[in-house]
Amino acid sequence: MDRKAKAVVCREWGQPVQVETITVEGPKRGEITLKIAACGVCHSDLSATTGKIPYPPPLVLGHEAAGVVIEVGEGVTEFQEGDHVVSSFISMCGKCRQCARGRPVLCDNARKAMFTLPDGTVRTKDSNGEPLNVFGACGVMAEYATMHVDNCVKVDKSVPMQNAALVGCAVMTGVGAVFNTAQLEPGSRAAVFGIGGVGLNAIQGCATAGAEMIMAVDSNPGKLEMAKEFGATHTININDVEDAAKAVKKLTGGVDYAFECVGAGAVVEQAYKSLGRGGTAIVVGVSDPKDKTSITTLTLPADERTLKGSWLGSARPQYDFPRIIGLYKAGKLKLDELVTRTYPIEEAAQAFDDMVAGKNARGVIVMEP
Ligand code: NAD
Ligand code: ZN
Repeated sequence: MDRKAKAVVCREWGQPVQVETITVEGPKRGEITLKIAACGVCHSDLSATTGKIPYPPPLVLGHEAAGVVIEVGEGVTEFQEGDHVVSSFISMCGKCRQCARGRPVLCDNARKAMFTLPDGTVRTKDSNGEPLNVFGACGVMAEYATMHVDNCVKVDKSVPMQNAALVGCAVMTGVGAVFNTAQLEPGSRAAVFGIGGVGLNAIQGCATAGAEMIMAVDSNPGKLEMAKEFGATHTININDVEDAAKAVKKLTGGVDYAFECVGAGAVVEQAYKSLGRGGTAIVVGVSDPKDKTSITTLTLPADERTLKGSWLGSARPQYDFPRIIGLYKAGKLKLDELVTRTYPIEEAAQAFDDMVAGKNARGVIVMEP
């Protein structure tokens, strides 16, 4: 059935987000409708409002949410009404070549549907009946969302929704970059550049995986304080040093793993330069498509360095989301502390401004029950 829902929409690149009442259609075959409880505000949502991530507007934002299943489409056997679900911006079809080789974040079918559902259409329309695209096949910064089951992961009902929501992006991306992409060994030395929601999770991933030294690098003193709470052993404010990479090298002798969690070629260069011999720099930040970086080519063979990317923490969502929640329940990962502030959906624009101002670990939009 059709449902009216308040939703956070990007109408035009460069303009503030808008809260609109939209229509969310019920599920087609292989889809479910969720009543969304909470949705985190990620820098990638912001990048979609500026065109840095070029998803065409009008676009319903949001890809980091938790909700309850309220309607199940034809042919769906894995979900039933009342299940708690976390959204995944990559759909894992399970059948394409990449899924078959164990790399669902690279799913060929997900790639075709970055701002629609996997079949190339949407279930969302505005008050004039015009279709609205959806961020990452999700569009979950809204009171309701109809999604394909391949973008949904069932989770433990005992976890508070605002915590579970963050597993869908910030936690999976940061922790997964460490566990899955880097496969960081205990005793490693690590540096994280950019301590936002994603970087903080890279920090706690390094701590949980047993890193010996964890350097947190940012320009915001508040973020560096948060980094210490999440396990950073040292902090470097880029405004206090001439060259952050040199500062990291001085303290560590060069790190084994550097995580770029900003989204800028210049910071990728810094992360790469902070490596020791045999080190790996992992690029997590999403930069402008025209952005470039520069590295000294010789160091790749002579130091056996690696430059690697990480998409949603190289996740296998159906396995990794429950795994992360299990680690939270066992007291080995922090989720409560990530939610610095919650906002009603009407205050979405404020939540975006606060992210730009670097006020929150994560700001979370909480829907009315
Ligand atoms: P955020 O805005 O919460 O945090 C970014 C942090 O970077 C801020 O604390 C800021 O002060 C810091 N920063 C800015 N310039 C810096 C510099 N030159 N050196 C060091 N620190 C600097 O953002 P977020 O939500 O944590 O996202 C971070 C990046 O990760 C974004 O580019 C986002 O699009 C990307 N992202 C990637 C994936 C993925 O799958 N790879 C998933 C989610 C988000
Ligand atoms: Zn995100």
